[in-house]
Amino acid sequence: MAKPTAAVFSFTGCEGCSLAILECEKELLDVVKLVDFVEWREAMSERTEAMIDLGFIDGAISTHHDEKKIRQVRERVRMLISIGACATNAGVNALKHRYGLREVKEIVYGEAGAEFDTISARPVHAVVPVEFEIPGCPIQGEEFLRIVLDIVQGKQPRLPNYPVCVECKRKENVCVFEKGMICMGPVARAGCGADCPSYGAWCEACRGFVDNPNDEAHEEVLTKYGVTSEELLQRYDIFCAYELEERKSRQQGQR
Ligand code: SF4
Ligand code: SF4
Ligand code: SF4
Repeated sequence: MAKPTAAVFSFTGCEGCSLAILECEKELLDVVKLVDFVEWREAMSERTEAMIDLGFIDGAISTHHDEKKIRQVRERVRMLISIGACATNAGVNALKHRYGLREVKEIVYGEAGAEFDTISARPVHAVVPVEFEIPGCPIQGEEFLRIVLDIVQGKQPRLPNYPVCVECKRKENVCVFEKGMICMGPVARAGCGADCPSYGAWCEACRGFVDNPNDEAHEEVLTKYGVTSEELLQRYDIFCAYELEERKSRQQGQR
């Protein structure tokens, strides 16, 4: 039986998630046993106009060109899967929303910025329907393989829906709050094996939030360690600025 075809398309981002697939040496061999890559800028020069079974998208939708291209890609891909923080929640690209677009262009490109095509950064799902999202900055090779395997076998892939703290405590790490750091572990989605706290750093929630994060419990921890919500928001901002904007507009809509 023919293998499903697959392609990787990159939008606004560092393409690190596309590279992360290439770099998972052991897992990549297993992935190519499951699917036939037919288009992938970082890995091959071939292109196709044919319908593609699985389309992996890295990068946010952050220019008019991105917007047009993702709609074209959607039309020729049966199953669209966003990979990485940029594609799943706009990632660090949404940091520009702290400023006005004109100001951002000027800061980055000076006078030439006026001509630059940039719009508010959005995740892929905000522009076209997506079938699944794999979080992380960058994505984790093992998780990518597990999800591709599930999809190819017709199973519904799943992500962990518990916080990073669970994995961190399993590893018996010393909590970084004890070292005066601020950690997003209590509300961040697990699945990375608590990578950052395991190396003595704080979690910045690069995998986004768990569904229904327990903000109250997180606030309690923050109060215990004397951290203000302003300091907390600076942490959220790095990877979750867009998610927070969405959450805020949902709350305003409910009022
Ligand atoms: S999620 Fe991170 S690694 Fe992936 S494209 Fe965006 S910035 Fe790069
Ligand atoms: S270091 Fe972070 S992830 Fe680990 S237990 Fe403390 S708050 Fe949770
Ligand atoms: S610990 Fe947090 S920031 Fe680090 S990889 Fe995991 S989710 Fe991302």
